[in-house]
Amino acid sequence: MELREIPIEGYERVLQCHDGPSGLQAIIAIHDTTSGPALGGLRMWPYTTRHHALRDALRLARGMTYQSAVAETGFGGGKAVVLGDAQRDKTTCLLRAMGRCVDRLDGQYITAEDVGTSVEDMLVVRQETPYVVGLPRAMGSSGDPAPFTALGVFLGLRTCVEWALHTTDLRGIRVAVQGCGNVASHLCKHLHQAGARLIVTDVVPAKAQRLAQQYGARLVAPEEIYALPCEVYAPCALGGTLNDHTIPRLQCQIVAGSANNQCLWEEHGDHLRQRGIVYAPDFVMNAGGLLNVAMELTPAGYNEARVLERVRHIATTVRTVLATAAHEGISTHRAAIRLAEQQLATVRQAKVYGPAGSETPGEVSVGGARVRHRRRSTPTSASTQRRQLQYSEDVLRQSEGEHGLGGEEEGMRAFPNFGNIRDNATAFHLAMDMIEHGHVAWGRAVLARLREHLQTTHDIKSVQWILPDVEAALQRFSCDEQHEMR
Ligand code: NAD
Repeated sequence: MELREIPIEGYERVLQCHDGPSGLQAIIAIHDTTSGPALGGLRMWPYTTRHHALRDALRLARGMTYQSAVAETGFGGGKAVVLGDAQRDKTTCLLRAMGRCVDRLDGQYITAEDVGTSVEDMLVVRQETPYVVGLPRAMGSSGDPAPFTALGVFLGLRTCVEWALHTTDLRGIRVAVQGCGNVASHLCKHLHQAGARLIVTDVVPAKAQRLAQQYGARLVAPEEIYALPCEVYAPCALGGTLNDHTIPRLQCQIVAGSANNQCLWEEHGDHLRQRGIVYAPDFVMNAGGLLNVAMELTPAGYNEARVLERVRHIATTVRTVLATAAHEGISTHRAAIRLAEQQLATVRQAKVYGPAGSETPGEVSVGGARVRHRRRSTPTSASTQRRQLQYSEDVLRQSEGEHGLGGEEEGMRAFPNFGNIRDNATAFHLAMDMIEHGHVAWGRAVLARLREHLQTTHDIKSVQWILPDVEAALQRFSCDEQHEMR
């Protein structure tokens, strides 16, 4: 087995892996480990050249860094790609050889399933290395990440519909889903349940037919999907589908899907904006699976309820990105990258070691092995607010138990920041999250204070975009209370 370093500017390590007996040809790209060991899936795809595989690995690894930063997983970004056809070339021998390559990096890179690999494949990789997550639930691991990815995409998509079409009701909304694989199957289920009208396609016709039958979706040929009149185009296949050829053909109002690297280049985010299409940045939308596997590596271990809580937060982050982009007059893609870069810059400056509760500062445990963990972030404004949310939730739980509605007063101690449009949007969504979690009094108090702030601020954009939502929510929740009282 041979591992050869390829020096590439902007990447911490890129390795070309070759194993003669199994025929393995792979690339492992470690983009950035500022926040922690690089975590990212293992993709198997029939790349036509090694250059294509390298380019894909580099783009995917960078995307993972951004995804981890925005989702605040405490991990860095990396990815591995295997050159080959998963249907034809995937063997136990090849997966084990890949496991040995991963093991040689001593936990600097932690792998998981991705396109062309499965939970079962990860079990084979696990025979050679502990640095693998997303193993079966029966083993106390986090299992298939796809349902969590799909949930995050569904919630983010609904946020975009709310933003662009001013409704949370998905009934009758036409969603064109490209790719009918793992994530898309779960996404279609959510969309169908919400009453959306589905249009599906896949290069493997049987996969598309299955979903079409299951959800009464309209079936179209792969090349037809771009030019379909619809409200949402949901790319759930491979990356690069938003490019010079496809963007002019799009007839949708929103692009929101699970695929990684949907924009071929950064400027394609600008092209979407110029066309007035709301684009939900991929690495913000599809973080659900990452949050699920990352939870396995926390000192407290895997906890599905906690994962779901964090996945639900994706809707808030999407909303924040949409608001920031609108406020700054930039594409949502650039706004999301900016958010990720800000998070990374904060982590780089931080002086605090290791995740809370880890036995040795600067280490995490992966499958029983210790992995060095770099410095952790000091909170940014968004993460401070999220922590406040957690804090206030704890306070409320405790004080509600003891004093009934006294929770409101206690909860007010942990009050979110108001200020620019991003802070205001985050505060609004925190309040709505709290209400959703049953803390109506606290949520309403935040909304009332936010309304007060917005009525006196000179930030016109906040007033235009957030104040109506705040007022509508206040009206709705005071009605709910009257209803409850009756
Ligand atoms: P998958 O392999 O199960 O599904 C991908 C599907 O897309 C396959 O059915 C494939 O035949 C189809 N496809 C490929 N090219 C196509 C094309 N040009 N037109 C139509 N269909 C095409 O993969 P998945 O796990 O569902 O992931 C889908 C996307 O979401 C990928 O880009 C992946 O990187 C991304 N993603 C997945 C997860 C996860 O939890 N699985 C997490 C984050 C991101």
